[in-house]
Amino acid sequence: MDSTHRTAKSPSKRCPRFLSLLIMVAAFGALGVVFAYAVNYEWKSGVVWPEPPVVDPGPVGGPPSDAIVLFGGKDLSQWNGGHRWLVEDGVATARGRSITTKASFGDCQLHVEWASPAKVEGKGQTRGNSGVYIMGKYEVQILDSCKNETYFDGQAGAIYKQSPPMVNACRRPGQWQTFDIIFRAPRFAKDGAVVRPAAMTVLHNGVLIQNHFELTGGTCWDQPPEYEPHAERLPLRLQYHGDPVRFRNIWLRELAPLVGKPSGKTGYARETVAGMVSLDGRPLAKARVALYDDRMKEVASAKTSDDGKFAMKRLLADTYTVTVQAASSTHLPKKYGETDKSGLKLSVDEGNNDVRIELASE
Ligand code: MG
Repeated sequence: MDSTHRTAKSPSKRCPRFLSLLIMVAAFGALGVVFAYAVNYEWKSGVVWPEPPVVDPGPVGGPPSDAIVLFGGKDLSQWNGGHRWLVEDGVATARGRSITTKASFGDCQLHVEWASPAKVEGKGQTRGNSGVYIMGKYEVQILDSCKNETYFDGQAGAIYKQSPPMVNACRRPGQWQTFDIIFRAPRFAKDGAVVRPAAMTVLHNGVLIQNHFELTGGTCWDQPPEYEPHAERLPLRLQYHGDPVRFRNIWLRELAPLVGKPSGKTGYARETVAGMVSLDGRPLAKARVALYDDRMKEVASAKTSDDGKFAMKRLLADTYTVTVQAASSTHLPKKYGETDKSGLKLSVDEGNNDVRIELASE
């Protein structure tokens, strides 16, 4: 008969708030030294995650393999108005008007390298001014902020008129600098209400200057910040503000979180199974016993000893499919080693489970 059944069990003592079961082992001599050790149980979230895609990070400064390269040094063909800017020796220099990407983007990671003019001219907002306008609305300020006085929420790395950078990490005029921006687009309800505001994290030359700042609306010079409902994706703009700010190595990664599915199998993996496998009533030695969850993923395995006994620890209380594969010297019907044919099920309850797996050669 092909069956598995429990012959005895003892319920475990539950302690939901504490992971550790403290076992006092011994006390010695007058000092009363106590040895103890803790047994930890793995907690399973019950969420089935897809495998994160593999991304080649590329050289330092990128672009990673899944990035959209918006300017790699050759041309600005991906930008409306790009023909107005000077592209020379792998560098694009702002002139004439602002430029806007032909494609639209929402949540993203954006890398921009820029340099304010080496020759220092003007002061305050008229020295090396440009800007990265994500969605064309939310500006991270570009400015020569090396020894250049201006209002703090308008200096380099500011989310314009909303949040000054936490520190001034600006390099000297003419030197290449990096912005790495992580942007979460705002979400709007159908009636236009803000469900979730836009948020930005910015690293300037690798230094964190904005830490998930939640914007209160668009960034304007002459208006208070205010949200106007807009599409989930909009073009990116690089500002021309009268100064020949240079750019190179601009790339963007669109962001989408992994989505896991709850399997419903959650809790501590702490139940034990001990038992015996027999074939035609005799102990089956050196057999491999494996347990599979409902997605047919192997969760535990053990080998039987000469008396057919085996043991497994740290299992979730659940019902498993069982396979048994015998050593090559033993004839065992092949079906027992196949999850879809074995016909063996094992219900693991809380505590210690004692099972018999009885197999037949015919
Ligand atoms: Mg600007």
